[in-house]
Amino acid sequence: MIHLADYQLIIIGGGLSGLAAGIRAARFGLQTLILEQHSLPGGLNSYYFRHGHLLETGLHAMTNFAQATDKRAPLNRLFRQLKLSRKRFVTREQFSSEIIFPESRLCFANDLSLLEAEVAREFPASSQAFLRLVRRMKTFDPFAPAPWRSTRTFLHEQLDDPLLENMLLLPLMVYGNSEEYDMNLAQFAIMFRALFLEGFFRPEKTIREFLDLLVGQYRNFGGALRFNVEVEEIVRDKDRVSGVRLSGGELLRAEAVLSTVGLPGTAKLSGWALDPEQYTGRMSFMETISLLPESCRLRIRSNRTILFYSMNDDWQYKRPSSLIEPSWGVICFPENFHGIAPKETFQLRITNAADYDRWRQLDTADYGAAKERCCHASAEMVGKIVGNYEQDIVYQDSFTPLTIERYTGKGAGAVYGSPVKIKDGCTPLENLYIAGTDQGYLGIVGSMLSGVTIINQHLLR
Ligand SMILES: Cc1cc2nc3c(=O)[nH]c(=O)nc-3n(C[C@H](O)[C@H](O)[C@H](O)COP(=O)(O)OP(=O)(O)OC[C@H]3O[C@@H](n4cnc5c(N)ncnc54)[C@H](O)[C@@H]3O)c2cc1C
Repeated sequence: MIHLADYQLIIIGGGLSGLAAGIRAARFGLQTLILEQHSLPGGLNSYYFRHGHLLETGLHAMTNFAQATDKRAPLNRLFRQLKLSRKRFVTREQFSSEIIFPESRLCFANDLSLLEAEVAREFPASSQAFLRLVRRMKTFDPFAPAPWRSTRTFLHEQLDDPLLENMLLLPLMVYGNSEEYDMNLAQFAIMFRALFLEGFFRPEKTIREFLDLLVGQYRNFGGALRFNVEVEEIVRDKDRVSGVRLSGGELLRAEAVLSTVGLPGTAKLSGWALDPEQYTGRMSFMETISLLPESCRLRIRSNRTILFYSMNDDWQYKRPSSLIEPSWGVICFPENFHGIAPKETFQLRITNAADYDRWRQLDTADYGAAKERCCHASAEMVGKIVGNYEQDIVYQDSFTPLTIERYTGKGAGAVYGSPVKIKDGCTPLENLYIAGTDQGYLGIVGSMLSGVTIINQHLLR
């Protein structure tokens, strides 16, 4: 068949949504090209090498765990859509995770009954209300068209216990909310399912093998992929797009373009007028990765997979008024999954809210020292929960909102993208679509589902 364009579909971004979309499109015979500005795939969830170790940029855990036999589960649907064998993909489930506030603690794992029992023990007066909330979340359709609805108001009506409300909100917000203070109820429902109803797992190996699997599958279906190419412009022809221009000036024509670089990024590339105030996310984070000797495990409290902590019961999800906010965050032990063999060292990762503007204002000369100060402040706070470990660190690396912006193009380092989501993936330009975080799905599994959904809805009709 002869096509006037070079490709039927160009996908901007070789992150998880772009790769999943690419596999789906190529599987159905669309001549597809993925363009990625970096030398490796994965975007926010890629990897790099330091000190002889492969470090994963983003992986704490994958969400939406399901046994391979559960045919209707999102994870298994995703594998079917990508024609990947779910049975051959070895998953490792979390030990358990914990939400830690000064007045209370709640454990949860991939069996919901643990969280139900924990709520009954710690909040007996709200126990029945929590079971009702679980039932509502099981049937809630977050993708049905609906106006923005306050989760805080909803939870207050349901549970009427501010501490329990905050404790449930912390993990769901820190792992997927682009708004400060409150969260759209649809987003809450997505995250509630992903974390509490389905749960955490990781691939048996690293994110590199997972990305290799995806890239291999895409190429098996005939998809083309170019690394180290930056799209500088999405070329318009009135109210349609005709292709993309690369930073070196090369012009590639396409019948349709799918952008995974977020709403503000897509608007900038295509000249689509969008109010940056409304569409730029404000929540960003600093992530610190510490490698500790295996022998250190005996001294520190490291028997869970992920700890979500706040030193204040009246916690708020918001940008800090300093470079980072160490008083709340996430502590992750990425090796604490069933069936992962111990190595000489193990990782402890900390995520804290960070203020992009303050990091941006630093002189280059101050940046390194500021990172060191923040790592120390964060380790001191986390030491109060797991025990001191700073003196044992073999290697440490950290990244800030500026790193996130530089490596993924996410403006202001907004990991979770725009506070306004475009659920149908459509833009004002007829054949330009968006997928990924700004379509409303979040995390690794979510981004991949987003890529697949947009191809199914708009390009395979
Ligand atoms: C520190 C951190 C920890 C995380 N932990 C987890 C976790 O444990 N579990 C989980 O499920 N999720 C986690 N996430 C979130 C998850 O990584 C993302 O939701 C997901 O990877 C987003 O995928 P995406 O494809 O939508 O976007 P991205 O990963 O941002 O992909 C977009 C791609 O587009 C490329 N690009 C941008 N502009 C251009 C251009 N002009 N030309 C060419 N290419 C371009 C970028 O380089 C990038 O590769 C984490 C994120 C971070 C930052």
